[in-house]
Amino acid sequence: ARRKIIAGNWKMNKTVPEALALVRELRGVVSALGDKVELVIAPPFVALHSVAQAIEDSNLKLAAQNCHWEVSGAFTGEVAAPMLKEVGCAYVIVGHSERRQFFGETDETVNKRSRAVLKAGMVPIICVGETLAEREGNQTLEVVERQVKGALAGFSAADVARFVLAYEPVWAIGTGRTATSAQAQEVHVAIRSQLARLYDGAAAGQVRIQYGGSVKPDNAAELLGQPDVDGALVGGASLKAGDFAAIVKAG
Ligand code: 13P
Repeated sequence: ARRKIIAGNWKMNKTVPEALALVRELRGVVSALGDKVELVIAPPFVALHSVAQAIEDSNLKLAAQNCHWEVSGAFTGEVAAPMLKEVGCAYVIVGHSERRQFFGETDETVNKRSRAVLKAGMVPIICVGETLAEREGNQTLEVVERQVKGALAGFSAADVARFVLAYEPVWAIGTGRTATSAQAQEVHVAIRSQLARLYDGAAAGQVRIQYGGSVKPDNAAELLGQPDVDGALVGGASLKAGDFAAIVKAG
């Protein structure tokens, strides 16, 4: 069975003191939840170091929200994967739709970043998802499958088996409009069958696929109850310790 993984993507929120205050609160509410669900938080880069220290001996793991594909060099403003590993990250979110929409991320750069994350000894959380226009044009599966194929090009089945994918329909992000559990399950199944075709059934069965897009305490149980929904990538609700804990409990 796949262990569920629930991650909080803090996006561009929380100064270092604010991040530490949220971690303190989070530790209080998630410590009782144990290790049944894997818990991850993704603060902004500048808070990673302090948060890493603040989550020692807790059931929270650390993720970054992006990274560059080179290990060092003249790339002003970028952060390299080995730097994130050294600071204590276990995961890096790659290809979030906000990066695709606003920062020119493509399937090819998602692939390069994922390669760098793996090489540095971390696991990528690779985000895919269709826009509203694409869903309304009945292109959802085509778009998502193209993104998955592009992101995973050149990886082995053994690599892919360890990856986390996040299905985040763009129209559900920050809108309060979630995919129905049936819509989520449909896409997750499509991704898993694609992985079985591209790699093998064993790898496809191991990959964890999170759902993201307006996950809240009141819809989490329904979404996480779907057989192929292996967790959640939570934005807004992950900024409130009580909401994050309630979502974890629903898992
Ligand atoms: P919201 O939960 O705020 O809709 O954000 C989802 C998301 O983009 C997580 O990466």
